[in-house]
Amino acid sequence: MTTVDLPLLPLGRGTDIASERGVDCPGDLPAASDPDLVARAQAAKAALGERVFVLGHHYQRDEVIQFADVTGDSFKLARDAAARPDAEFIVFCGVHFMAESADILTGPDQKVILPDLAAGCSMADMARIFQVEKTWDALTAAGIADSVVPVTYMNSSADIKAFCGRNGGVVCTSSNAETALEWAFDQKPDAKILFLPDQHLGRNTAVLKMGIPLDQCVVWNPLKPNGGLTAEELQNARMILWKGHCSVHGRFSPEVVDELRATIPDVQILVHPECQHEVVLKADLVGSTEFIIQTIEAAPAGSSWAIGTELNLVQRLAKAHPDKHITFLDKTVCYCSTMNRIDLPHFVWALESLVAGTVPNQITVDPETERWALTALERMLALPGRTHKD
Ligand code: SF4
Repeated sequence: MTTVDLPLLPLGRGTDIASERGVDCPGDLPAASDPDLVARAQAAKAALGERVFVLGHHYQRDEVIQFADVTGDSFKLARDAAARPDAEFIVFCGVHFMAESADILTGPDQKVILPDLAAGCSMADMARIFQVEKTWDALTAAGIADSVVPVTYMNSSADIKAFCGRNGGVVCTSSNAETALEWAFDQKPDAKILFLPDQHLGRNTAVLKMGIPLDQCVVWNPLKPNGGLTAEELQNARMILWKGHCSVHGRFSPEVVDELRATIPDVQILVHPECQHEVVLKADLVGSTEFIIQTIEAAPAGSSWAIGTELNLVQRLAKAHPDKHITFLDKTVCYCSTMNRIDLPHFVWALESLVAGTVPNQITVDPETERWALTALERMLALPGRTHKD
């Protein structure tokens, strides 16, 4: 077995700022029990005025989302930030790869701040650049790299996006994955796609939207020599799926879908394409977070829904639509633990630091990485009939 350098840095410990892993929160963090936190956040935001623009991802806690100037998915938020060139500070209530994308898409004088640097993403962490470069070497040695086009999901680190930019590939979101795959297959004769880092989005798109046979979708395990694949499997593959997944969406199971169908009359199952293929096969509707929100908004009163996405969003939808029966597609409570790292104490600390003249937790992407990541993002923007949702 190949040994890899994957130090485990538990959340809140260690100092690997360049990675998606947990780091300390420097400075004085207010106590979560401080009764004045809401008032402090309001006062700090008011003091900063137009200088600050707060972005809130759909999976954020209510206590934070109430202060967001805009809410949305990761790509929409990065674009929203780019549309506010006058804002000196972009406070990103989301996770690390999203703040990197915002830094790439905003001006050089704008500062992107992540209130807690431990807010990473377990899926993005599953594809690290040295692993992907080793994989490319292995594909080259196998004689197939020339026909491979790398495609990465938005939920990946900036250096993985840059890898795709450098190697003729593209970024995709969960809304435009099919268009991105069509584009990628058109780039080379007999093209194969290396899809990073979410195997489920890659498989669900290839099989269910494009009709690619399941046996032509192979999984590349970076921890095994040659990805754990034979030369024949690689030759026959059209989709080489990175062995990564979302720890939240990967939890939903086909058994719970069956159980809910048996217990809730006329329930409709609505899931995100990061869910396992077996779950998506059993669902009524599949789509991005924006699609899920729009579907529930358009649903008739009295309809019943079981939703397979992050729990903060499902709870918020249930609260906003008391006329509809909305339930979570899992028996156990499961928030995205890294999204939940952004809490009111960290938010207050970040804003008050800005008021005091200190820029905390700035996320910066180095110019070379930014250049190539932007190349891959711009290829996505040029896709026909694109949508910007994940
Ligand atoms: S919900 Fe999944 S993909 Fe999104 S930030 Fe959390 S771990 Fe990453």
